[in-house]
Amino acid sequence: MKPVRAVIASWLLREQLAAAIRLINDLTDPDDCWFDHHGGCQAHGYLSLEPGEKCPQREAKEMVEAHRALIEDGLRD
Ligand SMILES: [Zn+2]
Repeated sequence: MKPVRAVIASWLLREQLAAAIRLINDLTDPDDCWFDHHGGCQAHGYLSLEPGEKCPQREAKEMVEAHRALIEDGLRD
């Protein structure tokens, strides 16, 4: 059995992560990326993306979606 402090710390971290994900979701632009011929995202102003690099707005949306999927998977068990 975990010490109470460890359980509380774990719960607080989960709450903080959930709050951070909510903030990221709120701060994310709902518009999709659109790229210029140099590979920069014109929609979000990230014009100097390197090949293979994602627009941070896209990364943020993927992070929110991954968190949502994890929560849903956890609720199914
Ligand atoms: Zn973008």
